[in-house]
Amino acid sequence: MNLRYDTLYIGGEWVRPATDRTINPVNASTEEPLGHVPEATEADVDRAVAAARAAFDAPSGWASWEPARRADVMDRLADVMERRADEFAARVSAQNGMPVAIAGLLETAYPTMILRFYAKLAREAVFEDTREGLFGGPIQVRRVPIGVVAAIAPWNFPQALAMFKIAPAMATGCTLVLKPSPETVLDSYLLAEAMEEAGVPAGVINIVPGGREAGAYLVAHPAVDKVAFTGSTPAGRAIAETCGRLLRPVTLELGGKSATIVLDDADLDLSKIGEGLFTATLLSNGQTCFLGTRVLAPRSRYEEVVDALTVFASSLTVGDAADPATQIGPMATASHRQRVESYIAKGRAEGARLTTGGGRPVGLDQGWFVEPTVFADVDNSAVIAQEEIFGPVLALIPYDDDDDAVRIANDSDFGLGGTVWTSDPERGAAVAHRVRTGTIGVNRYVPDPAAPFGGFKDSGIGRELGPEGLLAYQQYQTVYR
Ligand code: NAD
Repeated sequence: MNLRYDTLYIGGEWVRPATDRTINPVNASTEEPLGHVPEATEADVDRAVAAARAAFDAPSGWASWEPARRADVMDRLADVMERRADEFAARVSAQNGMPVAIAGLLETAYPTMILRFYAKLAREAVFEDTREGLFGGPIQVRRVPIGVVAAIAPWNFPQALAMFKIAPAMATGCTLVLKPSPETVLDSYLLAEAMEEAGVPAGVINIVPGGREAGAYLVAHPAVDKVAFTGSTPAGRAIAETCGRLLRPVTLELGGKSATIVLDDADLDLSKIGEGLFTATLLSNGQTCFLGTRVLAPRSRYEEVVDALTVFASSLTVGDAADPATQIGPMATASHRQRVESYIAKGRAEGARLTTGGGRPVGLDQGWFVEPTVFADVDNSAVIAQEEIFGPVLALIPYDDDDDAVRIANDSDFGLGGTVWTSDPERGAAVAHRVRTGTIGVNRYVPDPAAPFGGFKDSGIGRELGPEGLLAYQQYQTVYR
């Protein structure tokens, strides 16, 4: 792959960037250069926001369109993205190490499913009602688009997490400036090409590849009306401070350290639960925000759970993300692997029992690989149980009874995902209801576009997905008539 882009997609055109600075993504599996794109600077962000502003404010602009007309554009975009699905999967997988088999679903079919879901909502949703006032007379209550959205995405699911924001924004009539993460900029060019081909009107979505500085500048830009952010908790805090000062609405989807609660009646047959357990605990090399990387195991079956998880993690196929057989690819960057390895070192230093992994896989000398790793006998207060590692590292924590499991699950600064494993779904749901988390599954986990997704506590503020996801892109306007 040698992809060279010298322009930025702003205002429906390919424009020259303000400087000749570039971002140069590297293949996480092979360490080979993948190409370059311009690095957007403040002047480019200014242009992008101005284009989004113009598209929003124009009297016959995007916001004024009938929702069904916007929905047609969204469906056309989904058509083009579906046709180019293999290209999206290959680019994402090369950049961030996501196994291509996973990218082929979650970075292609899943984002277009979200786009079509919100297109359907745009057609069906009623964005206003008229009610009788207590003082008499009709009152019209309208849900109007919030305006220009600054959308900031991380590198781990660049297309899906951008679409969490793009789809409801388009459906409601907002316009956007999307800032992808510097690690994953090449797929954003495919998105731009798809928008052009699908006839998304000029300025509705503008893309500024850049790092933290460009992101911070965009968040604070005076012509932005709302910020939608997915990324780390520290960055989320910084963005929330800016938005607090500016009184700017913001949704924050942040980190997690969720619990996988194995109840004492769980079926541990990996031929039955292995696939679901993988999605819930190790999906995309552990570089997924909702993963239940704290595995809570009942003391009555503790060694059985340790053995099952050890077999599960050690039998996964680790390799080049481009190989369709790969289940665990590399970490996205060299520095991220260093971070993951420093947590593994902390786990050892804290006295946890390493049952598998802990090092770099033999024979994979190029690329930023880490072996799937399981630590048993972890105390929930340990660093590896409290901090987000964002790699293929599981911490097994023993518990006494269901109450103790719930207590440990809730003893976390985060509250994003989680699962309960049991042969009694009612009992599983009862335990799930007691966990302070935004989303949780019983014997399965998938962030379904039909329902709200987001976090409690340090995992964020607000919700994306579901019909509820529209509300973050709308304001109420009350008209007394
Ligand atoms: P990150 O916070 O470093 O960066 C995320 C994005 O924000 C990037 O585009 C980055 O350039 C930008 N950014 C960083 N600092 C900024 C600032 N001060 N102002 C504006 N923009 C800024 O996170 P990352 O390393 O790219 O992604 C991994 C993190 O994202 C993990 O913590 C993970 O849990 C989290 N995440 C959360 C969800 C969720 O839905 N809750 C989903 C995926 C990832």
